[in-house]
Amino acid sequence: MPKDFFTPVTGTTLPRYAGIATLMRLPQVDPQGELMQQVDIGLIGVPWDGGTTNRPGARHGPRQVRDASTMVRNVHRASRINPFELCNCADLGDTPVNPVDLMDSLARITAFYRTVHRAGVAPLSVGGDHLVSLPILRAIASDGPVGMVHFDAHTDTWNRYFGDSLYTHGTPFRRAIEEGLLDPRRVVQIGIRGALYNDSENDWGEQQGIRVIDIDEFCAMGVDAVIAEARRVVGEQPAYLSFDVDALDPVYAPGTGTPEIGGLTTLQAQQLIRGLRGLNLIGGDVVEVSPPFDPSGNTALVAATLLFEILCVLAESVARRGPATPAGHAP
Ligand code: MN
Ligand code: MN
Repeated sequence: MPKDFFTPVTGTTLPRYAGIATLMRLPQVDPQGELMQQVDIGLIGVPWDGGTTNRPGARHGPRQVRDASTMVRNVHRASRINPFELCNCADLGDTPVNPVDLMDSLARITAFYRTVHRAGVAPLSVGGDHLVSLPILRAIASDGPVGMVHFDAHTDTWNRYFGDSLYTHGTPFRRAIEEGLLDPRRVVQIGIRGALYNDSENDWGEQQGIRVIDIDEFCAMGVDAVIAEARRVVGEQPAYLSFDVDALDPVYAPGTGTPEIGGLTTLQAQQLIRGLRGLNLIGGDVVEVSPPFDPSGNTALVAATLLFEILCVLAESVARRGPATPAGHAP
């Protein structure tokens, strides 16, 4: 295996538009194969939108983000982090899904992430609708509840849809708290602004202890104070980062299932993620990219770039924890 096997293909030798598009031009590694032992961070697509209640299409997100992610270079300009020097990163491909069966899809996605987790690999995923965060958490938070920094226009802690349907992209974090995967007192939600079905439906999350930062509070506090508050809430224990692109204003990310005006700018989102440097991150995702509603391709570019922002802070966390072991991450 060449020494630079885990280094992304550079645009100085192969043009960025050429070659087979893997996430960030990384090597593709089979999660069942021997090379997996050398991977620290796995980039993963979840091509599934069976939890969508409105505009579909997020199942096409991973392929489009792979294409857009060929623009990613190695070194972050602001932080000077080179995540590919800190960690061995690889594209682990797409998870298995069943596009005609929701519960079977959740089971297949969880099984895939169990393999990843058992190999000691931290996952960084691209969805897929937001329900995919639930099967991911079922696999990687199986050792006890984790904290979460959650960017979204919606809390995604609603309860039921269409009678007794418990599993939609509006419910993943309610289910995750009920299942003991998330510690609600270590969850912060940023950018919330979507209108409600009734004036008490959002109370549940706050009653559990979630720190909800509505977009108006975000604007009043400013980026630095919100970063400080997020760090205070999440603390030093393991935490997940979930980014729904509808947290952004639709002028930046129109290609999504449930757009809401009055959202974050892309620069604010970048600054917020950079400010999470030093947290004990165990994984992350960018979800709800819907290419059929993204005629300019900008939403996929935004998602690919945010994925790189998250990768930089995640790589520092993974490197700080030290070499992974097959049984899980070293302390
Ligand atoms: Mn969401
Ligand atoms: Mn949302």
